[in-house]
Amino acid sequence: MRIKIWILSILMLSVILFYSVLPASAEISGYRVYGSCKNDKKLIALTFDDGPHPKNTPVILDILAHYGVKATFFEVGSNVEHYPEVSRRVIAEGHEIGNHTYTHPHVKNLSLAELEKEVSKCETAIKKVTGTSPVLFRPPEGVIDDAVKVMSTDREYSVIIWSVDTRDWAGTPTSVIVKNVMKNVKSGDIILMHDYVTKSCNTVAALKIIIPRLLDEGYTFVTVSRLIEEKK
Ligand SMILES: [Zn+2]
Repeated sequence: MRIKIWILSILMLSVILFYSVLPASAEISGYRVYGSCKNDKKLIALTFDDGPHPKNTPVILDILAHYGVKATFFEVGSNVEHYPEVSRRVIAEGHEIGNHTYTHPHVKNLSLAELEKEVSKCETAIKKVTGTSPVLFRPPEGVIDDAVKVMSTDREYSVIIWSVDTRDWAGTPTSVIVKNVMKNVKSGDIILMHDYVTKSCNTVAALKIIIPRLLDEGYTFVTVSRLIEEKK
C-alpha cells in the first residue's frame, strides 16, 4: 500500500513538473499569422482599417474602381451595423472584408472570453449585412497575445498584420506616405491604411498617387486571401 502511494506521488509530481516547464506561450498547432506573403508575381495588398465610414469609404471605393484594383477592409462590427450599405458596396465591388472586432478595444485588456465575444459580434454583423463570412482577423493595433492566438485558431481565422505602415491615421503628410510606400514596397507586401479616422488624414490624396505609380511599376493589387493563396 505504501509503495502504491509512493508511486502515485511520483506520478503526480511528474505531471505537475511537466506542465510547469511548458512555455507560457506554447506553439498552437494550426495558428496562422501573416505580415506579408512572399511571391514572385509582384502581388501586393492594400488594407483599410476601422471602417466602414459613410464618407471616406465610398471615396476610397471610387478610387479603387477607377483603377480596377481590389483591396481588403478590416471592418469594425459596430460600424458595419451603422453603415451597412457601405459594407455591401465593398463586397459588391469585389473587395474582401476582414474581422476587426466589434468595438475596437485594446486587446491586451481582454480575457479570451471577452475577445471571443468581440470577434463573434463583428462576424455576425458582417454576415448579416453582406452574407459573407470573414476568414481574416486583424487585431486592433496589431496586438497579438495568447488570447488572439487561441481564438483565431479555434475559429480558423488567419491573423493579418502588415509589412508597410503608412501611419495615415496620424495625419502623416501625403508626400511622406508616398515616399515611404514607394521606397519600401516589395512583392507580397501588405500595406496598412485606414478608411475611418477621427482627425483629418491624407489617405485619399496618397492613394491617388500610390496606385498609378505601383501599377506602372508592374504591381498587381489583390485581396489578402488571394495573396495568401499565391504565397510561395
Ligand atoms: Zn484598427
